[in-house]
Order: sequence, then C-alpha cells, then structure tokens
Amino acid sequence: MKLWQKSLVAVALSAAALAQAAEVNVYSGRQEELIKPMLDKFSKETGIKVNLITGKPDELISRMQSEGRNSPADLLISTDVGRLYRAETQGLFQAVDSKLLTDAIPASLRHPQQQWFGLTMRARPVMYVPGKVKPEQLSTVEDLADPKWKGKICIRSSDNIYNQSMVAALIAQLGEEKTQAWANGFVKNFAQPPKGGDRDQIKAAAAGVCDIAIANTYYLGGMFDEAGDKAAAEAVKVFWPNQQDRGAHINISGAGVAKYAPNKTEAVKLLEYMVKPEAQSWYAEVNHEYPVVQGVKWSQRLESFGQFKADQLQLSTLGELNAKAITVMDKAGWK
Ligand code: FE
Repeated sequence: MKLWQKSLVAVALSAAALAQAAEVNVYSGRQEELIKPMLDKFSKETGIKVNLITGKPDELISRMQSEGRNSPADLLISTDVGRLYRAETQGLFQAVDSKLLTDAIPASLRHPQQQWFGLTMRARPVMYVPGKVKPEQLSTVEDLADPKWKGKICIRSSDNIYNQSMVAALIAQLGEEKTQAWANGFVKNFAQPPKGGDRDQIKAAAAGVCDIAIANTYYLGGMFDEAGDKAAAEAVKVFWPNQQDRGAHINISGAGVAKYAPNKTEAVKLLEYMVKPEAQSWYAEVNHEYPVVQGVKWSQRLESFGQFKADQLQLSTLGELNAKAITVMDKAGWK
C-alpha cells in the first residue's frame, strides 16, 4: 500500500470510530415500551446509538444529582412538568438553543429559557357517566366544588403529581385563598377516600361508585385498547371543562438536556427528532397523547374525545406552585 492509500485508510478508520462513538444517554421516567420504538427508529435513521435507562422520575433526578459532573446522562425525559421543574431548579439542565424546537413547540409548553421542552401534551378533563350526568350540568372545574356533586366524584390521592399540577393551575388562576375554598368543597364531594390510579377512577365510575371521574385522557385511551377495561372505558364520556374561559388543564411529557451532557449535540438531535410529525403522531397513536406540534394529525381515539381549548398557562408555573398546591390539598383533607 502506498503512503497516500495508507492515510486514506487511516482517515476512513477514524471516521468509522467517530461514527461508532456517536451515542446519547437517555434517563427516562417514561416506561421503556412507550419510548423504545421511537429511539430505535432514531438510531436507524441517524446512526446515533441510544443507551436507555428507565426508572422512577424522582430516582433519576436524585441519581443525576449524586453523579454530578460525572453523570453520563445527556437527556432526562419526564412525564410531568412538575418533575422537569424540579430537575431545572436543582440545576440539572442546560439551555438549548434550537430554532427548530422553539418554532415547533408553543411557548407555554417549554421553559422560558429553553431548559426543558414539552414533547407531548396530556389533558386531565372531566369524565362522566351518561345517564347519571347530563353534559349541560357540567361547566368548570371550579363548579365541581359545588355541594350538588356531593358523593359523586372519584379522583386519586393528593400525593399524585397530576393532581398537584391541576391544583397548582387553579392557584395560578384563582389565587391561593379561592383555591383553598374550592379544595375544601371539592373534597367533600368525593364518593370514596382516594385510592388507586387514574384508571381506577374510571373503573369506579363505570361500576357505579361515582358519576364523575378525573383522569388523564391517555388512561382512558389505553383502556379502550385492553379487552378487560374496554367496557369501563365505554361507560364514560369526556367533558372538556372551562371552555368558556381559560381552557382545560393540560400537562406535558418533556425532556431537558443534562447540564454535564457528554453528548450534547446528539441529545439535541434526539429532541429535534421527537418533534418531527412522524414522532408526534406515533405518540398520539401508541399512547393517546396529544401532539405539541400544530397541524399533526390526531389519532382516531383522540378525535373521539373531541376538540378542546387548552389552558395557555406557562407550564413552569405548575412547578413553581407545586408546594402551595400540596399545602392547599393537605388543609382540605385531600388524602
Ligand atoms: Fe401517567
């Protein structure tokens, strides 16, 4: 081999080594089955290997904290904005400058300084049992504190972050005092002491325990897909509250790039991949979550829940008001 040939081989080899080195380490609070197929597709298309670690969001946050500068984490994915806020206030993220992301994602669904980004939207509407409740009787979440609903509402416990975020949104809208009065009345209307997850509230409504359940839409969507839960899912209808004012309460799943990310470029590429229309509609199809990107087609199931106006509240507010929300719920005796 001549010298120029040798150096060509050397160049080719180091390029191959670089290509091999392209990887991204993802800490995911999302279950593996709800993210792995998308990550595999990303790897196939970009050649970037994804190392996926899944766990409970709070445990992943503690892990990043204790790993500090040596953390291999590039991206932290979470299923509630409250946790993204926690990670951000603990200094675990860094700002990402990507026009693609800021153009694709509405401002209320990402951190004001681009420390985290909403990747899917999830809504927490009212679900009612037709025949027991007429949709004309329903209006706002505030109204659910009215004594006319005494013993009619099922909702999970106050230690759940979806409820904490929902109450935080009310505090942002009504202030703490009015939200406290609301919570006091709302808790009196519970059909039973809170127990189980969101699906259990829907099942309880279907079983006649309550007339109204509060749950995230993707749980209802998922129940339609499972033979054992389908009948319960069919027993309730979705009502979108607060359509005449601020819109229905929503939350996001989202992600932020780790402060000490060893593979920042790849992490940003992955984030950008997740807001592509294909990825956005995949989420809608597989997990019944709403796209954050405008114009992406909804799944049939989401269409069946109906169009709605979503609250435009900057979602970082939910994190800021989380502690106050917990206090309000405690004071109201929300177990
Ligand atoms: Fe969930």
